[in-house]
Amino acid sequence: MRDPRHMRPIEALPREVIDRIAAGEVIERPASVVRELIDNALDAGATAIRIELRDGGLRLIRVSDDGCGIEPEELAIACQPHTTSKIHSLDDLTSITTLGFRGEALSSIAAVAELEIISARNAEGLATSLLLQPGDESGKLDVVTRSSWGTTVTVRDLFSNVPARRSLLRGPRTEAAHALSVARAYALIHPAVRFILTDDGQLILQTPGTDLLATAVSIYGSDVGRALLPFGPLYVDDAALSGLVATRSFTFPTREHVFVAINGRPITNRALVSAIESGYRPVLHKGRHPLLVANITVPPDSLDANVHPGKAEVLLRQESALAPYLRETIHHTLGNAPISATQISHPIAPTFAVPLQLHLPTIRKRRGLTLGERKRAYTPSQGSATPHDADEPAISALSQLQSLGQFEETIILAQSPQGHLYLVDQHRAHERILYEELVRQRAHSSSLPSAATAPDDEPTNTTPTTGIGQLLLEPILVELTPSQAEILSPRLAELAALGLDCQPFGGSVFLVRAVPHLPGSAQQPAAFARALTQDASEDSDDWIDHLCISLACRSAIRRGQPLTLAEQQRLLDDLRTAATTSVCPHGSPLALRYSKSFLTHAFEW
Ligand code: ADP
Ligand code: MG
Repeated sequence: MRDPRHMRPIEALPREVIDRIAAGEVIERPASVVRELIDNALDAGATAIRIELRDGGLRLIRVSDDGCGIEPEELAIACQPHTTSKIHSLDDLTSITTLGFRGEALSSIAAVAELEIISARNAEGLATSLLLQPGDESGKLDVVTRSSWGTTVTVRDLFSNVPARRSLLRGPRTEAAHALSVARAYALIHPAVRFILTDDGQLILQTPGTDLLATAVSIYGSDVGRALLPFGPLYVDDAALSGLVATRSFTFPTREHVFVAINGRPITNRALVSAIESGYRPVLHKGRHPLLVANITVPPDSLDANVHPGKAEVLLRQESALAPYLRETIHHTLGNAPISATQISHPIAPTFAVPLQLHLPTIRKRRGLTLGERKRAYTPSQGSATPHDADEPAISALSQLQSLGQFEETIILAQSPQGHLYLVDQHRAHERILYEELVRQRAHSSSLPSAATAPDDEPTNTTPTTGIGQLLLEPILVELTPSQAEILSPRLAELAALGLDCQPFGGSVFLVRAVPHLPGSAQQPAAFARALTQDASEDSDDWIDHLCISLACRSAIRRGQPLTLAEQQRLLDDLRTAATTSVCPHGSPLALRYSKSFLTHAFEW
């Protein structure tokens, strides 16, 4: 047992505190009971928490911990409304250090279910039990034995006395899946605590109680373990940030596996979650989300945990300082991790092969399978690593690469100083380099008066350039639809900053005098001008980024273009200086890595 975070007596809260508490319905379903009981166990300093469900928690939820326990004479008090040992005055509300503080959970549970608490405050296991029927005020106290120090709370037949609420609950599998989501989040956020979750005796989750990496592996499997990139600790003001993100080899169709915690509490803070998403969005495929754990620690007085009845939202003073930091960290960590070719089998649409623990609803279906079928069912069909690179952790940055030659005039074969083999897609690599150049140009050139004005000393060659824009020999007329013209008109200044000099020419016709100039681009200027003007009139908030991506894509070296060894090397060197080195601007992988150990074993060298 660790030192609990509170050692004070359990007391009724003063009226003025009760009035300030964001109270509400805290118990909605079995998962909310699980959440409240885990909070209590953690607050009691537990190092191991066992959660047992029967029928997904509809029939029974039992949470046992090895925490500090409850004094026998305080058991009944703990189940009264607004009784707590965690805060005692209004001042305490402003610096909460525990997960619970409202003194509501046990009483709210007791109002809608049978509640039994057995608690021992000594190693001999001499314990007191209290059994409360729904609505029962006093309950029944007994002296019992328990194998050790700690508390076991059992909740039976949730909402049996409130049929209207009971009817809103889903089936056992869905309810178990919700409870699993809660337990999984707490297990990742408190990796030093051992968590066990069973449903009808079947083990669903078991974590080692060590560190975050080992906990993530215990939940998601060893393949994911090799794709995990830790980050932090990083410090912003007085906040600390650390966590991990899985490489793009393992992504999910939902945000379900993106976990954010503040001071040990899983939260859904919109600003932080959207900062995280804007960090990974450019480097993952559309619609895919990573496995990500972000643990944020702040001084307790900079946090208001008292804004949401379910305690799922908090107000955070450092929110606006943290958000860009979080975005950059995630973008940088994910965007520079070279992708191991042996850890993916389908780089275009990576899917995460769901191990047993993750999709409860399918467990029972699989009970009837033969052993062979079971093995296949639980073995990842995609995303599986070969046993030979089992000792290869994910690496977080592209190393200095030396070009060996071109394959099919499409892929550059290269080697790293560590002896790993890299396959680099020449088009995507160049696209990434050009895209970043454009982003840089945009940042620098927004101060220039007109992007396409040729300087006085411009040499009189056929296609003079301005450094940003390249003047066309003959201006091009581009005709748009009236609605496109309306979208494009207010964007002309921003286009000029990119080097696209485009002026209204009456009606929905525009005159293009210069197009962006990108080094190494082999575009036909006229077709380029037309295509870009079309792209620039796209009806979207991200149009400028889409335009930069499209510009980079249209200008980049094509697949099928022969490159000399020196050109290949220049491309690799330029790529290394990019801010994001592992994916093209569309979010597709641009390099694959075959580790030396994989090659050694595969060829049995
Ligand atoms: P809160 O957690 O907001 O204080 P609860 O109704 O959840 O309110 O719990 C009431 C009190 O009962 C807690 O303040 C704590 O002192 C005690 N308690 C509840 N669960 C446990 C536990 N598992 N171990 C030790 N004490 C507990
Ligand atoms: Mg509580």
